Amino acid sequence: MSDALKKTVTQEDAEAAVRTLIEWAGDDPTREGLLETPKRVAKSYRELFAGYEADPREYLQRTFEEVGGYDELVVLRDIRVVSFCEHHMLPFLGRAHVGYLPSDRVVGISKLARVVNGFARRLQIQEKLTAEIAAAIQDILQPRGVGVVIVSEHSCMTMRGVNTPGSRLTTSHLLGVVRDDPRTRQEFFELVRSPD
Ligand SMILES: [Zn+2]
Repeated sequence: MSDALKKTVTQEDAEAAVRTLIEWAGDDPTREGLLETPKRVAKSYRELFAGYEADPREYLQRTFEEVGGYDELVVLRDIRVVSFCEHHMLPFLGRAHVGYLPSDRVVGISKLARVVNGFARRLQIQEKLTAEIAAAIQDILQPRGVGVVIVSEHSCMTMRGVNTPGSRLTTSHLLGVVRDDPRTRQEFFELVRSPD
């Protein structure tokens, strides 16, 4: 979101909108238990949607070129994903697995988790989130290939609509040799799936 757009909505505006939604749900926003709720919700939105405040690509700028000849896949599994579907503004929660085949440089592993988190804290669909993470790693690290898999449970499906608790959505986005070389691709998926 641009700064100009954000400044048109004040904290008071956001709180008023929450009060409206409480009434829409059928409750009384002036009763004691709900009095402070709009303020808390507006504040928690700043945290839940912190992805708009930063460019996650910046986390990948600092790389290490001394890789000691390492030329195999680097895979970080089970990165916690907390995101929100743009269709219902309900959370989807799951895990991301991110891998890449370095060409001549690597990035600190915590940065991979920060990239996932940065893109996740926005409104979107899981398909787009998966592709955005892969594209950022490809563009900035320029590895020989990238693989991103996200498995998550969408509360817009599990707690409303078709009500299917336990159903999970898997998306993957592969680039470079992880996509095109059958052995690298197979190795990536084996590393993602292997038991602990
Ligand atoms: Zn949804």
